[in-house]
Amino acid sequence: MKTLLRKDDVVIAIGGRSLGKRGKILRVMRDKGRALVEGIQLIKRHTKKSQLHPQGAIVEKEGSIHVSNLLLFCPACDKGVRVGAKRTAEGKRIRFCRKCKHEFDK
Ligand SMILES: [Zn+2]
Repeated sequence: MKTLLRKDDVVIAIGGRSLGKRGKILRVMRDKGRALVEGIQLIKRHTKKSQLHPQGAIVEKEGSIHVSNLLLFCPACDKGVRVGAKRTAEGKRIRFCRKCKHEFDK
């Protein structure tokens, strides 16, 4: 699935268990169309018993979320928005907010 989202983008979850939460993209898995986002879609993982945790432990870590459940956060609109891509006069490819035309990647 094609997505304009990339690592370090701030996004809002619009679906799944993390509805309405905001976070930064840690990784985009383009082949799967999914992303890992800081603090979003946390899953509990049981770790194996170790010297540090003799009983084992439960840690929370980010689970992947489908990119269709994420919107890029627009600071001008102060909410998640759909983005488009265009080329500037200088030939640079940038993304913009479809609502207010705020330009990202500048
Ligand atoms: Zn905007």
